[in-house]
Amino acid sequence: MKNIAVIGAGTMGNGIAHTFAQFNFNVQLIDVSQKALDKSIAVISKNLDRMVIKEKITTADKDRTLTNITTYTSIKEGTQYASLVIEAATENLDLKLKIFKELDEVCPDDTILATNTSSISITQIAGITSRPDKVIGMHFMNPVPLMKLVEIIRGYNTSDEVSKFIVDLSKKVNKIPVEVNDYPGFVANRILLPMINESIETLYNGVAGVTAIDTVMKLGMAHPMGPLQLADFIGLDVCLSILEVMYNGFKNPKYAPCPLLVNMVSAGKLGVKSGEGFYDYSESRKAEKIAKQFE
Ligand code: NAD
Repeated sequence: MKNIAVIGAGTMGNGIAHTFAQFNFNVQLIDVSQKALDKSIAVISKNLDRMVIKEKITTADKDRTLTNITTYTSIKEGTQYASLVIEAATENLDLKLKIFKELDEVCPDDTILATNTSSISITQIAGITSRPDKVIGMHFMNPVPLMKLVEIIRGYNTSDEVSKFIVDLSKKVNKIPVEVNDYPGFVANRILLPMINESIETLYNGVAGVTAIDTVMKLGMAHPMGPLQLADFIGLDVCLSILEVMYNGFKNPKYAPCPLLVNMVSAGKLGVKSGEGFYDYSESRKAEKIAKQFE
């Protein structure tokens, strides 16, 4: 396998493209937005620079990695030679079904179709194609070049052969694959999101404030980041949508999103990406924090 197409050049797509290109695969990075593609290449270049400074790679490695990536705005053009497609477009069921229907039509019959979805059923996505045995979940963690885990999700019809192939491929790019079955939230989010939701519920019930809750979990459980801060990093809209998928999928009230989370998302407080969530990330606060470092 030499050609891997990556669909979506956002946060995850650029990390996935970076990782495979660094390990000498030819990556066809595809996005509907030329702006997103340009930004993605700039981000990959900056991240590679950081690795050069830390002496993890050489300048020649950086140049080779960038040369291994070609960008496209058309799925048909970008996937024609791909042995594997990894879809990392926006988390939206209708969009993913549309993309997989097109992939099934334009890709060679033996192309494996993987999705990086955080919460959508692999079996449902596979159902729109005529090759459900070749559809699989490859759930990378953010930031992809640094995080070791890939959760490999087997859909109901995913073949043993395809699963083994994807496990072996993940190891080739220095990741540690863990195989799981296709149920709402898979494993990572099924365990993480109820913890985040419970921390929001704890805040909502007035048991403790934001810093207190995060400090308990950081110092008491040795978590590198408190659950409320982590929620801000993931994006509160993303947290809400994953909880809704689990709530609807299991029909179990234990996954019901906390009303405070629902309210914050409705108010546009989405965490780091909107400048405010449980913490304030606005420019003025950033400047204040930087100034404090020099006091
Ligand atoms: P993002 O919003 O940063 O990027 C999505 C990209 O998809 C955008 O550049 C958009 O232009 C592009 N896109 C939209 N429609 C497209 C189409 N029809 N064809 C090609 N490109 C299209 O999103 P993200 O955070 O990178 O998430 C991507 C996927 O990865 C989602 O399924 C998400 O659930 C999953 N995921 C995200 C994280 C995370 O921490 N952000 C972690 C694991 C998995």
